[in-house]
Amino acid sequence: MKAQDGVYIDGAWRPAKGPDLIDVVNPADEQVIARVSAGTAEDVDAAVRAARAALPGWAATPPAVRAERLVALRDGLLARKDEIAETVTAELGSPLAFSQAVHASVPIAVAGTFAELAATHAFEEKVGNSTVLHEPVGVVAAITPWNYPLHQIVAKVAPALAAGCTVVLKPAEDTPLTAQLFAEAVHEAGVPAGVFNLVTGLGPVAGQALAEHPDVDLVSFTGSTAVGMRIGALAGGAVKRVALELGGKSANVILPSADLARAVNVGVANVMSNSGQTCSAWTRMLVHTAQYDEAVELARTAAAKYGDRIGPLVNAGQRERVRGYIDQGVAEGARLVAGGGESPHEKGYFVSPTVFADVTEDMTIAQEEIFGPVLSIIRYEDEDDALRIANGTVYGLAGAVWAGDEAEAVAFARRMDTGQVDINGGRFNPLAPFGGYKQSGVGRELGSHGLAEYLQTKSFQF
Ligand code: NAP
Ligand code: MG
Repeated sequence: MKAQDGVYIDGAWRPAKGPDLIDVVNPADEQVIARVSAGTAEDVDAAVRAARAALPGWAATPPAVRAERLVALRDGLLARKDEIAETVTAELGSPLAFSQAVHASVPIAVAGTFAELAATHAFEEKVGNSTVLHEPVGVVAAITPWNYPLHQIVAKVAPALAAGCTVVLKPAEDTPLTAQLFAEAVHEAGVPAGVFNLVTGLGPVAGQALAEHPDVDLVSFTGSTAVGMRIGALAGGAVKRVALELGGKSANVILPSADLARAVNVGVANVMSNSGQTCSAWTRMLVHTAQYDEAVELARTAAAKYGDRIGPLVNAGQRERVRGYIDQGVAEGARLVAGGGESPHEKGYFVSPTVFADVTEDMTIAQEEIFGPVLSIIRYEDEDDALRIANGTVYGLAGAVWAGDEAEAVAFARRMDTGQVDINGGRFNPLAPFGGYKQSGVGRELGSHGLAEYLQTKSFQF
């Protein structure tokens, strides 16, 4: 795989200040495919200074011109679509068809939505005797995870640029090559030097230096709740804006009137796609006691069909973590009906699609985010019981409700403490706000709500 030497700062690739390199590993065969620079605090400081210097010019650039650059960025990503998909497959391990259909295509669509919003958003409005300006927040620190490597980057950088902010990106150490392709596309889109900067590196070094840099105005972080809590505390201490997109443990609630086979099949596919490494995955399936055995059998069959089509987990550490949860599920008395910790392959960080039945709400596997291909099927007695279980975790990122009648599903969904709910298998909408209730986060991404995160208001009274 092709890798850039160094970090991208002030419109050019330049050597990192330290000698350290990060090995990029293909999780499907455990081979090192490239090496990238491990940026230091000095590199982060240079990137933040470049972003600060570029801010006045970019903030003053008319939104229509910023929109043109975003259109060019979208087109540049589109031109690289195959290379993006192959790169995500190489460094994340997801099957190529999924990389093409989701990892490459979704961020191209999202970049297009922000190009459109930059051109159409009302950056000035009248409120009574006031004129309210929507101004860029300033220099943005974007810290992203590996699970949807390009999507997570575009969901931050595109609205930040649309808003007139400048950005320093620290992508996940496991997936830096996709981030480099993104930087190349930004460069070719004619975005002025310093407006976007990329420092690859380790979380506790480059990520930490970026999150605590005094000249950053907003920290936008996607990743684990543990790291998110630290970043939120740092930002609070410095009175900085912060957006946190954290973990999830979403419920897939199947009401008795639902099409059970469809709800179970879509539910299993949702958990197994991307090898279960999706923060919004519906990892808890809630089924009425009268349909429980039938649902378990349907889920077992659906998981078995996945078999070999599932990709590996991103690294050895994640695989061990997921295996640990599977062992804990067994130890706490859940019934393993599909999969288990074994790998169907000799090489690579694979875990078979796994389904647990007889999971009770207090079990560790029902409460903690596993981030692997592991589904827990939980029994409920009536609707109030289902609601109590659905809302009974520290998380609230996403969820699903299935019912024979859409209005019945909606009535249930209104009572859920979560940021997004799919009704009877509703489709992904790149304009709908995405983000968490409770410990799943602070703030929203995508669409006009995502753009608003990067704006602050100034009011003139007349
Ligand atoms: P993570 O360890 O929290 O990493 C996320 C990012 O933060 C990475 O770039 C990481 O760098 C960096 N980082 C780590 N320690 C840091 C520190 N002390 N200071 C600043 N930055 C630091 O999470 P992960 O294991 O990569 O991703 C999995 C988690 O992310 C899951 O919990 C999942 O639910 C969550 N997630 C949430 C969403 C959402 O939208 N809500 C989306 C995707 C993932 P390194 O790569 O070097 O560790
Ligand atoms: Mg990490």
